[in-house]
Amino acid sequence: MPLAEIKSRIAKAEAKVGRAPGSVQLIAVSKVQPNERVEAVLQQGHRCFGENKVQEAAGKWPDFAEQFDGIDLHLIGPLQTNKARQAMELFDSIHSVDRPKLANTIARLAQELGKCPDLFIQVNTGEEEQKAGVMPADADTFVAECRKLDLPVKGLMCIPPVVEEPGLHFALLAKIAERNDLQGLSMGMSGDFETAIALGATHVRVGSAIFGERTY
Ligand SMILES: *Cc1c(COP(=O)(O)O)cnc(C)c1O
Repeated sequence: MPLAEIKSRIAKAEAKVGRAPGSVQLIAVSKVQPNERVEAVLQQGHRCFGENKVQEAAGKWPDFAEQFDGIDLHLIGPLQTNKARQAMELFDSIHSVDRPKLANTIARLAQELGKCPDLFIQVNTGEEEQKAGVMPADADTFVAECRKLDLPVKGLMCIPPVVEEPGLHFALLAKIAERNDLQGLSMGMSGDFETAIALGATHVRVGSAIFGERTY
């Protein structure tokens, strides 16, 4: 689907629930996509992208950054502590902060590097065993811990279980954000970003709808 069409669907979804135009940021998820497709989207003026692996991002984004100004890069996949430094040097935002050890490492590195990406805390709203994210019941405590470390926590992120109604998970995430005074809500993908916008998403992560299917 052309980028322009996704943007117009986002604008319509914003308008439908009375949200300000441009209040939702589109993160174009470029993981696994061939460079030509990513470059085509860059050529159309889009600058906000998401990757789920540090290594993969490190292999392509420094080159793109030489050709295109103002790239805004988001890490949306799980982060190992031993890759935290590289991630903090490469990304403008990290959406997968989900445990004290990682929060502590990021806090220490932020001191050392003198900068820190915007952070989102990932919540495992479906309480799925194989999925990353802090459990909903532990979210308030973890937000408080991150704040105590002076981390720039901008919001929450979730990936709903594939088989469930995503709206229930988006509503839960919005509720946790609201009671913790957090404005950012990273939720919604190709199949459900309009639902996410209706429920307050500030960042939607859309991959295949923009770039086409990923071939692994
Ligand atoms: C791959 C990915 C997306 C994008 O998924 P699509 O269905 O292709 O839009 C969004 N969020 C995360 C965390 C992802 O890993």
